[in-house]
Amino acid sequence: MAPTPTPSRSDALLVFQPVKRRNCAECRRGPLPLLVLEEGKPWCLECADLGHLVFLPRGDTALTRRAREASGLSAVVVRFNRRRGRYERQGVLVEEAALALAEERCLADAEARRRRRARDARRRAEEDARFAEAFAAEIRRLFPGCPAERARAIAGHASVRGSGRVGRSAAGRALSPEAVTAAVRASVRHLETPYDQLLMDGVARPEARRRIAGRVEAVLREWSLREAA
Ligand SMILES: [Zn+2]
Repeated sequence: MAPTPTPSRSDALLVFQPVKRRNCAECRRGPLPLLVLEEGKPWCLECADLGHLVFLPRGDTALTRRAREASGLSAVVVRFNRRRGRYERQGVLVEEAALALAEERCLADAEARRRRRARDARRRAEEDARFAEAFAAEIRRLFPGCPAERARAIAGHASVRGSGRVGRSAAGRALSPEAVTAAVRASVRHLETPYDQLLMDGVARPEARRRIAGRVEAVLREWSLREAA
């Protein structure tokens, strides 16, 4: 049997998983788990010169394609599905070295993908850090009285990726004074005023905001005037 290439599925060598118990027409061994039909008779893989091939079950498309490409001799394993009335692919038989090579290539691909994902994550983290740094610098420019630590915390909070917070909005990206001030104001509202407690006490939000507005503006004014201690 010549190791002919198998350019398409239709002219691939076929190996059958028999539904019935069959013995090899040549060596009489059996029942055969896999057989080849030659002149209408079942042959075992050894007698059909396919005994050195290994079975690769269907399921991993890339691995199957690569293993068949690397294999000088390969066969498609099918089994008859009585209910559906048709033969169905179970996998392929390929040379062991070809399968090993295909597995290595697939692993290398997976590793390459993993490394690329890690690189992307690192780049995003660096972008986030740069953005937060610029944001903090802008806070300190507009509010020199805002402690550095606090500016970093506000900037970090505002620039968390994908959070939809002000730092990721178009204005925040551009570090507009409005966006930066809005982030600082929000922080002051929660930390320098009883805003959260008012909400917890059941005060309506507009009313709570009204009550603390003076305090918020006082802190902003103070931070915008003097250098931080
Ligand atoms: Zn045989």
